[in-house]
Amino acid sequence: MKILIKHCNLISVEPDRELYEKDIDILIENDIIKKIDKNINEDADKIIDAINKVVMPGLINTHAHIPMSIFKENLDGYSLQEWLTQKIWPAEEKLTDEDIYKASMMSFREMIRTGTTTIVDMYFMQNNIIKAAEETNVRLELTRTLMDSDGNGDKKLEELENLIKEFQGKEENITINVGAHALYTCSESYLPKTIELAKKYNLNFQIHFCENTQEVEDIKKDYNVKNPAEVLEKYLGSTNSILAHAVKLTDTDIEKMKKLNISISHCPISNLKLGCGIARISKLLDEGINVSLGTDGQGSGSSLDLFEVMKFTALLQKGINENPKLLPAYEIIKMATINGAKAIRKEQKIGSIKEGKKADIIIIDMENPVIMPINDIFSAIVYNVKGTDVDTSIINGKIVMENKKIKV
Ligand SMILES: [Zn+2]
Repeated sequence: MKILIKHCNLISVEPDRELYEKDIDILIENDIIKKIDKNINEDADKIIDAINKVVMPGLINTHAHIPMSIFKENLDGYSLQEWLTQKIWPAEEKLTDEDIYKASMMSFREMIRTGTTTIVDMYFMQNNIIKAAEETNVRLELTRTLMDSDGNGDKKLEELENLIKEFQGKEENITINVGAHALYTCSESYLPKTIELAKKYNLNFQIHFCENTQEVEDIKKDYNVKNPAEVLEKYLGSTNSILAHAVKLTDTDIEKMKKLNISISHCPISNLKLGCGIARISKLLDEGINVSLGTDGQGSGSSLDLFEVMKFTALLQKGINENPKLLPAYEIIKMATINGAKAIRKEQKIGSIKEGKKADIIIIDMENPVIMPINDIFSAIVYNVKGTDVDTSIINGKIVMENKKIKV
């Protein structure tokens, strides 16, 4: 299958290319970006005219809980701990296979509709999520959430290890990771077992970390440390890890975290909704820590639209630091694309548009009165484009949405 995209305006996020190029053609052959050039004259099974449209890499959401589409906007006025214990955990106990499958289909359609092509999930009953991912062709980084606060920690580890073995080298679009829920739901005897599992199979590790003040206080007490980062320092080693949120970090935490192999998944909308605070993203970037973007589940994060997350990220950092020079629009676009790919160790495969990389590409319709006129293309993407302006989405060389119609 050959797809030829004609006359596009390209934001490739590729360091070897111009930041923005006009009138470019892209040839996709099966799952791979074969050629990027002006005036490609080759036969193709499908030609997409992208004149006046912007082509960029599919967005990468590094923290979500896919089936939580069914909990959309079910909280207002809850703290993180109240929301989990009073609303979410009791409701989750009642979820059936069918619920998880249908809720996952809703979320995958939402992410495709809004320009995300890869998503990092942390949930349970994962066979239903996998079934929905296979049907929608999304690129999925999946785990079975690990925690032992309910007394069933070892059973969860066993379930996850079985899944890891089942999927080794099996599916291109689905990768299994190790995800521990949080330090307040994993005991100090259990946490090292979860990290050992990631090490054993050389997998990425993810965990919620320092989401609000209460969590920081709980970690200090449960783990008997002065700074939560001491726990990571003690157990993570060189494990490639994604820390979701990281809102409440001290300078000491950041100093310790710099030496580890970690990325932060910044989820500002969820953090604001739950009244957690605002993560110190510009400081983390200054210290050389990779920061990617996430939505969190829609219960707290509202939607899977990463364009919204890009806008919030930029505005919050400029505002709280009283410095408009921070986080230029192009840096924000990198956070939603190549930084996400780095977080999951797939930067050689996805996250930018480059010959030889996987064809995960979105095409944005810029011709609407909210976006026009375009004075600065990168600012237009971050501040004016909405996820629903994405016109066409291609994942692993397959068109999953065309002319805003989802095809899966
Ligand atoms: Zn989360």
